[in-house]
Amino acid sequence: MRVFNFAPGPAALPLEVLEQARDEMTDWRGSGMSVMEISHRSKAFMAVAAEAEADLRELLAIPGDYKVLFLQGGATGQFSAIPMNLTHADSSVDYINTGSWSKKALGEARHYCKVNVAADAAASNYTTVPPRSAWKLTQGAAYLHYTPNETIGGVEFPFVPQVDAPLVADMSSTILSRPIDVSRFGVIYAGAQKNIGPSGLCVVIVREDLLGRARHGTPSVWDFKAVADEGSMLNTPPTFAWYFAGLVFKWLKKQGGLSAMEERNRVKAELLYATIDSSGFYRNPVDPACRSWMNVPFVLAAPALDRSFLAEANQAGLVNLAGHRSVGGMRASLYNATSIEAVRALTEFMREFVRRHG
Ligand code: PMP
Repeated sequence: MRVFNFAPGPAALPLEVLEQARDEMTDWRGSGMSVMEISHRSKAFMAVAAEAEADLRELLAIPGDYKVLFLQGGATGQFSAIPMNLTHADSSVDYINTGSWSKKALGEARHYCKVNVAADAAASNYTTVPPRSAWKLTQGAAYLHYTPNETIGGVEFPFVPQVDAPLVADMSSTILSRPIDVSRFGVIYAGAQKNIGPSGLCVVIVREDLLGRARHGTPSVWDFKAVADEGSMLNTPPTFAWYFAGLVFKWLKKQGGLSAMEERNRVKAELLYATIDSSGFYRNPVDPACRSWMNVPFVLAAPALDRSFLAEANQAGLVNLAGHRSVGGMRASLYNATSIEAVRALTEFMREFVRRHG
């Protein structure tokens, strides 16, 4: 029995893909082995790797002058790898602080260079995105970093910033949820465990002119050029996660690609926000213009009911709805693998809960 899983990451994966991986687990495509038991340098695995990259390029329409890297160390590793690759000790960089993940990213960057927080949403308690006109950018900044979707706060940028410096985006919790114009970005990075596949993999999409600038002493596994030159096989990559991500990319193509996902994700988010807003019982604190499609935090009118809500939801097969430990309340994550049916079941449960306890 599969449950409706609203986990923030590691998150729900498409059932069809799990079933395919299961079916191929012990005898992968007639090899008599699993895909995890073969060399990453074997012809067979190299083909898997290349196909995954080609499918990702197709889905996101990644221009030819961008490299796609398949790394380890998660998005957190990139918090350091970005400044190591793009700055000198005397560089200045701009960060937009819209919540927990931006804050972690800029905290790591401070070990490497001068960090200017060009805008900070603190005054709104991180419930909105400061307007572009209010940003205080640094002349000659090595890059501008932002977090298009804050996974914990549920705050999403309603625009792609227009700035002179290369744009660096932590897309961990929004990548593949809709089409994007990759050419607007210098670097896009994303931990895999939400919309890409299992944890253990981090995808980095980097414009070629930003390669080859890593600081002296940058570990080679973090040096974008060194990794790109080796086709992300400078050392042993996370082969199972890479293979699985490839299956997810095929599944996305079968669903109709990212325009189809955008439509589905819009419907899911609208359904849940409408349920919250019309309830008089649930509340989402985020500025409606900046509400995330992927992560929807909400609180109950009576926090004393939190435990009953979670327990009854669990019983109804709706799991992983607790808010992040730093904020409490509830959070429903609605990544690509979460169906409209799952969101319908959740909203029906929420209405029923109000009837019984409201
Ligand atoms: N950035 C964002 C936006 C995230 O949601 C997360 C994980 N929840 C991270 C970074 C950290 O990712 P990882 O655990 O892969 O290092």
